[in-house]
Amino acid sequence: MTDAPFAIRTFGDPVLKQVAAEVGNIDDALVRLVEDMIRTMYEANGVGLAAPQVGVQKRLFVYDTGEGPRAVINPVLDEFRGEWVYHEGCLSVPQLWWEIERAKEVRLRGLDLEGNELDIEADDLMARVFQHEVDHLDGILLLEHVKPEERKEAMRVLRQRALGLPVDMPDRPERPERPEPAGAQ
Ligand code: ZN
Repeated sequence: MTDAPFAIRTFGDPVLKQVAAEVGNIDDALVRLVEDMIRTMYEANGVGLAAPQVGVQKRLFVYDTGEGPRAVINPVLDEFRGEWVYHEGCLSVPQLWWEIERAKEVRLRGLDLEGNELDIEADDLMARVFQHEVDHLDGILLLEHVKPEERKEAMRVLRQRALGLPVDMPDRPERPERPEPAGAQ
């Protein structure tokens, strides 16, 4: 179907609910994994992809918010500031979007692929991607951030999909009306 090295794991796959393990050492296999994740992310038109989404229980993610592909290993977030509600989608819960509140600014620390220490003050989309991806490493899907009534509707849609039934979503378009500035994560 695509040339992506990995099939992206979707809702219902138990790997998405597990807490990923710290990366102990950056070797050739890890570099290849990152390259394959980046290709998989681009094939899916995503802006971020965490290792558990391709079935790998390691604390790392890749992203591209417009400045080329980057990898973050063993990321840690703190200094959450402000709040920002924005539509957000997940490659593991495809074609569904919600308005989700997250911190507007965060500080991210971790390592890059060369083992250099990263210390990034992020805001807006980059801050959102970081929070979304670190959630994946902790076994948290964005469904846990949506309002209870929206979650109920999402579960209904996901059940219908799992059963191969036609999905009806009369109340809400599956995609935001406005142009999508960046893909899902
Ligand atoms: Zn996601």
